[in-house]
Amino acid sequence: MAVKGTTAEVIEAFELTSTGAQGALSPRLFYEIVQQSPLAISITDDKADILYVNPAFENLTGYVNDVIVGKNESILSHKQTPAEVYRELWSTIKDKRSWHGTLVNRRVSGEAYLAELSITPVLGDNGAVAYFLGIHRDVSEMHALEQQLHHQKALIESVLDSAPVIVALLDAERNVILDNQAYKKLLGDLHGREPATLFVDALKQDGVDLKAVCRDSSGFSEREVRLDIAGSLEPRWFSVSGTWVGELDSTAGSYFKEQAPARCCLLLVANEVTVLKRQMEQARMQHLRASLAEQQRAQDMREALSGAIFQLQTPVNVIQAAADMLERGTDINKAREVLAQVLVSGQKAMETLRGALPDEPQEPATSVNLNSLLQDVLTLMTGRFLACGVVIDWCPQAVLSSICARPDQLRSLFMRLVENALLAVAESGKDHRSIRIATRSQSDRVEVLVQDNGPGIPESRRLKVFEPFYTGWNLARGHAGMGLSLVQETVNQHGGVVDVNPASVDGCQIRVTFPVSGRQRALQGSSL
Ligand code: FAD
Repeated sequence: MAVKGTTAEVIEAFELTSTGAQGALSPRLFYEIVQQSPLAISITDDKADILYVNPAFENLTGYVNDVIVGKNESILSHKQTPAEVYRELWSTIKDKRSWHGTLVNRRVSGEAYLAELSITPVLGDNGAVAYFLGIHRDVSEMHALEQQLHHQKALIESVLDSAPVIVALLDAERNVILDNQAYKKLLGDLHGREPATLFVDALKQDGVDLKAVCRDSSGFSEREVRLDIAGSLEPRWFSVSGTWVGELDSTAGSYFKEQAPARCCLLLVANEVTVLKRQMEQARMQHLRASLAEQQRAQDMREALSGAIFQLQTPVNVIQAAADMLERGTDINKAREVLAQVLVSGQKAMETLRGALPDEPQEPATSVNLNSLLQDVLTLMTGRFLACGVVIDWCPQAVLSSICARPDQLRSLFMRLVENALLAVAESGKDHRSIRIATRSQSDRVEVLVQDNGPGIPESRRLKVFEPFYTGWNLARGHAGMGLSLVQETVNQHGGVVDVNPASVDGCQIRVTFPVSGRQRALQGSSL
């Protein structure tokens, strides 16, 4: 039978068709329940032509009962829902099965909304579909929130992806629930082994108590982790930091509970420090090699000097014998013979001593930035400056051309010059002691100036100071006067020039000039 939309007609229809199977519940009660339901309910015939809508339907769609009854449900279609969805909807309900899904609907005002719809076929006595029951609600707001959440997650992921660090968020079971591109790349490098698991294992071995991190809502920072990767000889190093993050309990059981962090998530942030680590390792090995070589050299020297002392003993003994003979008035020819023996054994001892002189170290020439080299010197001598109460005025040129040089030789050269400057300011007795070190590029040359406010060097001695074994210090003892002579030798080997600047007025200014790389190589050929 046909059911029409007025209240009396619908109740009458129900009363006529009721079998009384509902027991005590009257058709009117059923009707009132549908009428007062907050969900939009419609009843259609088997072609979706509307027979009845409840007030919630009217409120949601804007269509009043009188207008919509007799119209097809397609009146609600916004034409944004793909035809495929309707095809699937109809094939389901025609098959006497319920359909659930989401459609884009249109209110009477033309405004679109998202309808979460359930359609249930109602079968007639003959077992064929007689009516359809449609129940729907507006889920536009929920969809907007979901989209917002989705966009926010995408935004967070893109920010994390652009970060040059490895990031992974682990849940309480240590499963990765969020990561970034750098993490995924490492995962690939590790042939699918989860980096987070390896980090956590390594941190545990290193004594990091991850349970305590959760318990105290704390974290840890910059713990070094080494990963050995199958198929690669070189280990990789990471500096790993971790922060506790509380995950809110979103299970149904916690719905009415206070929103307190229930589970501990761990945010791992790792920086790869392999390159730095390798550099440090290389530096350590170099230092070890240098110190072993130094020990070896000292030992060789001790052996050679012991041999020379032993050999010098012979001429000393013979001299003693000759002196005794002369004292006793022995024949002069005999004494001459003894002296000849002294000469021979003395020369032999000299040869042994010469042989003991260590070889000049064969340091390779390389491109050197004098600013950086001088900074090394200043760092190495900081303790001396503090002990002498000297103020250092460091004036490097901002961008300095490189030179081709043997860096260790130049380091000891400038250490000698700065050491001299320290002795000079000590000699002056002035309260204010200062040393100024400056660098500057001059066309195809690079110049270093070491200026002190000591007594200075008079014009008559400006060349002499570079001669071997010349020393003019009044206070400093134990200096053989070889410093500036060695400085000049090193500067010459580098194709440079060193002099005492005659224009310097207060104290002494030593000027060292080197040709810049290309020109210097041309000048020096294979010597550098
Ligand atoms: P139509 O030309 O009406 O149909 C598009 C396609 O749907 C057809 O190509 C065909 O595959 C299928 N189809 C349509 N009618 C039939 C039919 N009688 N038998 C078999 N297949 C058919 N649509 C909404 O957009 N919003 C709603 O809220 C909504 N609620 C509904 C509630 C109920 C109880 C029922 C039974 C249907 C409801 N529909 C709803 C579906 C609606 O009837 C239309 O099918 C749909 O809106 C598409 O309409 P259209 O004018 O764009 O295309």
